[in-house]
Amino acid sequence: MPQAVPSAKPFKPLRALDDALAELLAHAQPLNQTEQVATFDADGRVLAADLISALHVPPQDNSSMDGYALRCGDAASGGGLPVSQRIAAGQSGWPLAAGSVARIFTGAPIPAGADAVVMQEDCDVQDDASVRIKAAPKPGQWIRHAGEDVARGATVLSKGQRLTPAALGLAASIGMNVLTVVRRPRVALFSTGDELVMPGAVAPEQMPPGAIYNSNRFFLKALLTRLGCQVSDLGIVPDNRAATIAALSGAAASHDLILTSGGVSVGEEDHIKPAVQSLGHLDLWQIAIKPGKPFAYGWVGVGGAAGAGQGAHFMGLPGNPVSSFVTFLVLVRPFLLTLQGVPDVAMRCVAASADFTWARADKRREFLRVKRNPNGSLALFPNQSAGVLTSAVWGDGLVDNPSGQTITPGDTVRFLAFSELLA
Ligand code: AMP
Ligand code: MG
Repeated sequence: MPQAVPSAKPFKPLRALDDALAELLAHAQPLNQTEQVATFDADGRVLAADLISALHVPPQDNSSMDGYALRCGDAASGGGLPVSQRIAAGQSGWPLAAGSVARIFTGAPIPAGADAVVMQEDCDVQDDASVRIKAAPKPGQWIRHAGEDVARGATVLSKGQRLTPAALGLAASIGMNVLTVVRRPRVALFSTGDELVMPGAVAPEQMPPGAIYNSNRFFLKALLTRLGCQVSDLGIVPDNRAATIAALSGAAASHDLILTSGGVSVGEEDHIKPAVQSLGHLDLWQIAIKPGKPFAYGWVGVGGAAGAGQGAHFMGLPGNPVSSFVTFLVLVRPFLLTLQGVPDVAMRCVAASADFTWARADKRREFLRVKRNPNGSLALFPNQSAGVLTSAVWGDGLVDNPSGQTITPGDTVRFLAFSELLA
């Protein structure tokens, strides 16, 4: 497990997000263990070494059309040209006889001597089986050149690259059936709250007063899995100090990160912070964002040794579902990507036009749930409460609204797409 993060400093409450994130990322020492995985199974994993091609892709000049390969000069006569060979994909022909054409199919190698392909739609096959070219060919037409995708010796994918489906295809195109990737971060996930009931444990009509279903556990587990983590889903921790301490210390030795939801606010039933402080140290608490203010970050030492030796990073997310969801995206996600060695983890925002009014400027930077209209402008979910998870399902992204900022229709705002943040 990771080495202890630098010793505790007294934390300043209500830190600016960028400031807090910079501190968090400074603690995220990339994991240095790697593993070999089948390319088929490497979607979403992070490459641990540059991938260099040992061959050209495509390996040789080949046809990008079904048609006839020829020398352009031979087509100038306008007469019929005999077909001297037939080359399908997977075959190789021989040098093209002067004054003839080769019947050729998409992906088949260009025979030596030919300098163009004419698509079959631009040819007439005559009664004597010779081929008349209807349109004068240009040298090089419909030929895909050797190495035009990847040149031998080129770095096709770099260390730290998170593998997408297209990247898996590219790796396969240079012959890689196994890839060296960073090992998965091991994350212990806990929910806190005596009010929480697991779906399936109690039927909706039998829920006791005050009980709610544990929804955070579901999306947090899914988010962690999407980010390539190995998740230990360790259930619900009751709202008391001893149980919280036992849960955290039990997870510290075998995980890189302990992620909790709930119990990090200021109430008497919020036991997470003192538990972390008794086992290690708290470095951050309260971020100037809305929703998500109570976010906490720290370190849980093995055996409770404060800051010494082995242990796990700790992140405490607020209990309100939207707060939990948003803090995961803006803080946990970049942290986990950095742990895996991804170099650029900044959220990419695009400029978009607001199609709504936001009259209540807040002192904190806000993340509003919005949806793109067909014309690209943004509509606002009417209820922006931190408990309303419907907003995150209805929405397809967040508006990152600076503190103190009102919004009127037509204003340009910063849009963060879920499609990117959840990929
Ligand atoms: P807390 O941060 O523990 O004060 O919780 C804030 C709010 O979020 C309370 O209304 C909790 O009932 C609710 N909450 C906490 N954890 C969960 C959870 N896992 N799923 C759904 N709601 C939760
Ligand atoms: Mg609670």
